[in-house]
Amino acid sequence: MCTCEFCNTEFTPRPQVKNPRACNNNPCQRLRQAANEREWRQLNDHLNSKEYHQIRRNQRIDKIKKINAVVIKSLSIGAEFLGLPIDVKVFCGHFEHHFFRTWAEENKQVLDC
Ligand SMILES: [Zn+2]
Repeated sequence: MCTCEFCNTEFTPRPQVKNPRACNNNPCQRLRQAANEREWRQLNDHLNSKEYHQIRRNQRIDKIKKINAVVIKSLSIGAEFLGLPIDVKVFCGHFEHHFFRTWAEENKQVLDC
């Protein structure tokens, strides 16, 4: 048995509910939902921060740059191994430029945040 946070009556919670807070009455369920949403907003207040999104964006860009560096290193090793007449620096410049332009176009909403 649990006590409803909103009407203080005893109720038997459904076994699926981990932390039962409210009885099955509609007004209590509406209050529970509103309380959950209010608590979620308080816990996730940082999601409204411009700094948070800037930090996350920089983390994504750093991750992409690391992947890009690995791809370019692999390509340069492959070109050297095959003896291909590729100017790796020029190729890498084009690749990096194209890679970021494509990524930026595909993630326009993310970048505009
Ligand atoms: Zn209740």
